Amino acid sequence: MHVTRFAPSPNGSLHLGHAYSAIVAHDLAHRGAGLGKGQFLLRIEDIDGGRSRADLADEFRADLAWLGLRWDEVPAQSVRVDDYEVAAATLAAMGLLYPCKCTRADIAANATKSGPDGPVYPGTCKASPPDHGEAVAWRLDVAAALARTGPLEWMDDLAGEQRARPELLGDVVLVRKDPDTPASYHLAVTLDDAADGVTLVTRGADLFAATHVHRLLQELLGLPVPRWYHHALLLDEDGRKLAKRRNSPSLADMRREGKDGLAIAQQLRMGQMPSGITLSASLNSAP
Ligand code: GLU
Repeated sequence: MHVTRFAPSPNGSLHLGHAYSAIVAHDLAHRGAGLGKGQFLLRIEDIDGGRSRADLADEFRADLAWLGLRWDEVPAQSVRVDDYEVAAATLAAMGLLYPCKCTRADIAANATKSGPDGPVYPGTCKASPPDHGEAVAWRLDVAAALARTGPLEWMDDLAGEQRARPELLGDVVLVRKDPDTPASYHLAVTLDDAADGVTLVTRGADLFAATHVHRLLQELLGLPVPRWYHHALLLDEDGRKLAKRRNSPSLADMRREGKDGLAIAQQLRMGQMPSGITLSASLNSAP
């Protein structure tokens, strides 16, 4: 029996890709029902103070209920900021964080490698620290961290055993420059999944590479190690991941139009996609 979660960010309405993600996580928690210990959690990932909209959490709950899902809700990220700060201080005390003042433009101009999330940070501020008093983010020194932990592995239930390769993403930001967004996605999600007792981290295959970093953070912070399940993605006619900004219809609109959420959930479970939408290939090896 697994504890799984759906962890939407309230910066836009949910669409069918989110519905699929929530259904996969829900069903994995309750697989082999009868033993009855599985749990499906909802966590609102509202760490991004500048982009989060308070009204969307209620919309998300109504969407999930419309799909026929039941969940237990755990605290939103905005109330866990102290935990993120404590963890960042721990990593800093271990000598594994360094300050960085670089902008996206600086990184784009100086990067020599591209990783799964775009240009890999070239280590500019590691070589030449910013002046005191400048606004800085804090980055994880991945080489120093790996030297401390040694090689690490993690298990994806679809793609199989993986060697953690956080170096693919480079020295990621853990504490952001923007005071409205105190922790980065990587730090917050790793701490939250541990605090919530998640045993099977279920999310889209687009976040596969992020798991290399999360596994490293777990080891550094002494957190339990779950399994992962990176599911296939819903793609539009151009083969791109569904996105609200590209006019994928929202669940809220479908709900208000009187569409049958239970029937839609059942079709998604059976892999029957609405016209114009396809499911990407499932992972049976690392992407
Ligand atoms: N909050 C993230 C999103 O909405 C999901 C994070 C995760 O599942 O790890 O894309």
